Amino acid sequence: MKKVRTRCTLCNEEAIYYLRSRKLRLCKRHFIEYLKTEVINTIYKFEMLKNVKKLLIAVSGGKDSVAMIHILHQVCKDLNIEMLGLVIDTGVGEYSKRQVEKAREIFEILNVPYRIERFSSYGIDITRPDLEKLTKRPPCSVCGIAKRYIMNKVALEENCQAIATGHNMIDIAQYALANILTGNLEYLKKLLPKVDEGPRMVRRIRPLYFIDEKETKLYVDLLDLPHVEDRCPLAEKVENVQNTIRMFVRELEDRHPGSIRAFVEKIPTRIAPLIRVEGEEKYGICKICGMPSKGEICSFCKIRMLLSGK
Ligand code: AMP
Ligand code: ZN
Ligand code: ZN
Repeated sequence: MKKVRTRCTLCNEEAIYYLRSRKLRLCKRHFIEYLKTEVINTIYKFEMLKNVKKLLIAVSGGKDSVAMIHILHQVCKDLNIEMLGLVIDTGVGEYSKRQVEKAREIFEILNVPYRIERFSSYGIDITRPDLEKLTKRPPCSVCGIAKRYIMNKVALEENCQAIATGHNMIDIAQYALANILTGNLEYLKKLLPKVDEGPRMVRRIRPLYFIDEKETKLYVDLLDLPHVEDRCPLAEKVENVQNTIRMFVRELEDRHPGSIRAFVEKIPTRIAPLIRVEGEEKYGICKICGMPSKGEICSFCKIRMLLSGK
């Protein structure tokens, strides 16, 4: 029997994606065009690149940040914004090696200059069996603090006015729900598409804020862009609340398409504006490293001290 192929709603090519929100069937070319346009619209809507002359692009080698740099590369060229790639080797065996390799590949394909930073040069080893006991934090929390610190430090050193990360819509919904569940509502103020926190805290932008991870995966596959497929083995292992919330978010979006997008759209417009933070958060300077800190010593230096036994 002859297989009937579905055609793209916008041209006559074979359709490879059904865009449910607009009831459109899209071919490869029109899907790629759609995703780029969505990301570019978000960048403009939230004025992410306003006053940015040089942008630091954090690439983990995963599908999201690879798709992000591929799109940003074009946008930055058009706007005459200088780009610098950053990949952080978190020291988790073969997994981190593959991440660095893939990030390096995409930087080289796009001809974007880059820096590689390693947790090991900061005295951080998140695979240590005694990590949780010493720091009172799970590895993912130490990793997150260290990554954010290094990104900010590199951005300052390199004179970048913004840092782009590849957080997608599912990540955002997961973090928002997790922090609602724990009552940590102030955090939602920082879970915006663009965050300008204060002096020496470089602006953070999340151009994939409204993009489902399924779409970044399709994008990198269609364009055959290098990327790692697996998740960090340390995160995978833990049977924690975060993983369960993520499964729930995924399932909700799959069973009720558009529901997570509707939630994420309300974070900047309806939810975050309702949250009052008691007394403005004041950043001082960490007396050890000189980077911004809420206390005398920043969380990163505290962790380093605990790990070095000082
Ligand atoms: P994750 O927290 O792993 O979901 O990553 C969210 C975003 O943070 C990624 O899309 C990247 O932009 C950035 N990121 C995470 N891990 C790294 C890394 N090892 N090196 C550079 N950027 C990273
Ligand atoms: Zn088409
Ligand atoms: Zn410090």
